[in-house]
Order: sequence, then C-alpha cells, then structure tokens
Amino acid sequence: MDWRQTLSGLDDISEEGEKSLSSLIEVFGEFEPTSSAWRVITTLYLDKTRLAAEFAKGARSGNANPAIALWQFQNFLRSTLPKKSGYPIRDLLDHIRRLVIVSDERDLRDLPEAAQSLDAVRIMTIHGSKGLEFKVLHLPALTSRSIPLSVKQNRGLAPPDGMIEGAPFKGCDALTSGHDEEQQCLFFVALSRAEERLILYAYSKRSKFVDDISGHVLNEFPQSASAEGAVSANGIKLEVDGIARISPSELATYEKCPRRFFFAHVLQVGGRRAESPLMRMHNAVQGVVDELTSRLNDEPSEAELAAIMDKAWMENGPADHGYAAEYRQISDELLSFFRLLRTGEKRRAPIPISLKFGEAEIVVSAHEEVDAGSGRVLRRIKTGRKTTNAVESLDAAAFQLAAEGHGEAEFVFLTGATQDRLTMSSTKLGNRKRKIAQAAIAILEGHFPPKRSDRCARCAYFFICSEPPSGTLRKKIGSGLPDSS
Ligand code: SF4
Repeated sequence: MDWRQTLSGLDDISEEGEKSLSSLIEVFGEFEPTSSAWRVITTLYLDKTRLAAEFAKGARSGNANPAIALWQFQNFLRSTLPKKSGYPIRDLLDHIRRLVIVSDERDLRDLPEAAQSLDAVRIMTIHGSKGLEFKVLHLPALTSRSIPLSVKQNRGLAPPDGMIEGAPFKGCDALTSGHDEEQQCLFFVALSRAEERLILYAYSKRSKFVDDISGHVLNEFPQSASAEGAVSANGIKLEVDGIARISPSELATYEKCPRRFFFAHVLQVGGRRAESPLMRMHNAVQGVVDELTSRLNDEPSEAELAAIMDKAWMENGPADHGYAAEYRQISDELLSFFRLLRTGEKRRAPIPISLKFGEAEIVVSAHEEVDAGSGRVLRRIKTGRKTTNAVESLDAAAFQLAAEGHGEAEFVFLTGATQDRLTMSSTKLGNRKRKIAQAAIAILEGHFPPKRSDRCARCAYFFICSEPPSGTLRKKIGSGLPDSS
C-alpha cells in the first residue's frame, strides 16, 4: 500500500488528477495488505462511498442487477476460504482465478432463491437453464463454431483404455463418440426452455443445428450488428510523443490480445500472472539461458554452471513445490539440450535490428548470433514447446524480416528439443509484413480491443479488464513505447 505515500507526493499532476488521487487515498487510507476482503468491500460500499445507496436506488427504479450482483458477491465472501499467506485479498483473488480456470464459478452466478421472481432478463448457460422455462427466450451466438463445439474443445478426462466394455475401445474414443449427439441434446434443451417466443441469433455463419430447424423459423432478419463493428468502437485516443518502439515479443502480445498489450506496454500497469509451477520452472530455465547467452564464447565451468542454475532455481523456480525434484530434473534436461546445441559454436554479440513501419519501429533482437560455416545465424531461444504457428507468427515474421541481409533466422525450442530455421515463403512473409504494419497502425491509432479466451483467468489484468475511461492518453516518453522484451 506504499502507493498512498508515493502518489501523495507527486507534483507533475493536473488539478483534476490530484483531486482523484486524494479521493482514492482517502477511501483506501485505513486498509492494510492484511485486511480481509469482507472488511474492505463492506467499508468501501457502506461507509466510504455511496455505492450501496446508489445500488438500492437503482433497484427501486427497476435496475436490480448491480444490487443482486453485490449481494451474491457478499455471500461468496462469507463462504470460508482456506487461510494461506496472511494476505486474505490476494488469496481470494487466486481462489477466484482457480474457480474460473476450472469453470467452477458457474454455480456462484445462479440467481438467489429470493430474487427468482424479479421481472428482468436472466442470463445463464444452457446447462444452468435445465428444468426452467421462460415466456421469451433469446439464444445468442448459435454459430458454427459455438455449437456443436469442436470435439477438441472437450475438456473431459478420458477413461483409461480398456475400462469400457465392448469392442476394442480406447479411452479417448469414449470422449469423441457421441460428442455431436450430446451437443444436439444440449441444443434441444436450450430450445425447449421457451414457452411463447424463441429468438435465435448468429453473428457469423450459423450452426448446422439451426439449419436443421430452419423450416420452423417464422421470420429471418439479416445480421444487424457485427463483431467487427463492436471492435472498432474500442478506440482509445493515444498520442505518442516520438516514435513508438515495439519489440517482437510485444507484437506477439498484441497478436494474442490487444487489450493486454495496452495494459502491459502502454499503461505499463504492473501485474502478476497466475504462474503455475511449470511456468516458474520455465522462468528459471530462461534465467539460465539469459545468463549463458550474455557470456558469448565464455563457457562457464561445471561448478559455475551449477551455481548459475541453483541461483535461477531459487529465485524463479518452483523450489518449494511438492514435485520440485521432478521439475528440477526437467529443467536440467532442457538446459542440457541447450548446452549440447551450442557445443563448438562461435558466437558474436547480436546487434538489434530496426524495422520501420511509418511512425512505429519494430526493434528485433536475437539472443545470440552464431557463425555457421555458410554464414550467420540469428538465434532466438524459447524454453517452451513449438506451437502450431510458432514459426509463422508475426513475431517469427518480424525476426525473419530483420535477419534478411544479415543471415538466417532461427528459433530454438528447448521443450521438445527442436531447432527451426525460419523459411516463410516471400508471399507468406509479405502477408505477415502487411499484418505487422496493420498492427503497428492499430497500436498508434489506439485500437486495443479485448480478445477474451480461456487464458483470461491467468492474465495479470483479469481483475481490471474493463473499458478504459474516455479521453486522450498522452505518452510523453520521447523515444516511444519502452521495449520490455
Ligand atoms: S483478461 Fe483477457 S481480454 Fe483482458 S487483457 Fe487479459 S487476456 Fe486480454
């Protein structure tokens, strides 16, 4: 909570900003990092602000949703949470992330019994609607990608092979067989909740299940709003003083989720990813890779190497985990592949290469530059496994483009022990180059729409990911967006 002291001493701040900060400091003034979530929430909305009064007023005039949401959240807070670190709010947030990751938060969203009779729109999953009926039913997103879901998205755990009686039957076959039929049943459950009117929506190609019943649809209307339109409304007025410098890893972040790029690299909001022990193991391996690549041709002795690995392990690895020894063994294997790969190589210090896209600059840095007999190889080392589009992503394209005229570009993936030269065809590379330029323009124009996915619950910005306020954001950073790669 040191920010309260830091912020109160700021002098380069507008009058309006100072007023807002003083209010925040006043509201959060009495809390400590060890305060309980219950105390913080109730003090905030009952004592320090007029939120509870506003919600009650809204409920009286027909908008009960905020009040009900608060009531449900309160009930959730009162459920006993395991005491862990002595920081109840941090533990609570970790608990919420875990619930969302394993989709176990759905029950918590159910409307309380006492609010069942409210005259309002109820939003629920098809599973949650079983046994209920409604006069009017809206079924959104009935697209070919939503229902039936691809069998690959089935998160069920396959039974062991041989457990199911009958013809030779593998456990994973049990998951795939009957998948479509099960999805069709789900669709039927959804349709049969309607008593008088049923309205179906599809914002893109509609589901084959909707086609099956199209003979019974009374009115068909053209699409009235598109996902594209919704995205373009998310522009943020961004004024950058100087050239916006973006690294390929930041570009990769933008490709994965523009809103995450906004939080991390434009607002530079610090945040903690929900890191699994596996991720922490990768962090430790990355630490060793960074250290070794910074030494160029100065190979450490076995004792020195062991000390480097121990240090990285203690600082970043899952040293306190029940399976720490197993994780450590995996990390040692990854690093032994890395050392083997570099045996006998001659390396020189890589020089950052800049690619210009209008007012934006992509600065590409290799981990190391290797003298291969036939020329130079610019190498990037990734501790993870090679994903399906890893060597064709925008990040890879920027790396290959930067290497042109200097040598060849190479990605090394320590998990799976793969080493790939980047060899996208000129047509593919041209397409990627256009996409990079579009991303750079979109960044400068302030387009940072959220790209929601299953990964959100692990994102550092999960709890603050809402629409940013209106107004212009000025970045007085001289040389552009800072490179944090
Ligand atoms: S929570 Fe999801 S949508 Fe929001 S920034 Fe993170 S990844 Fe993007």
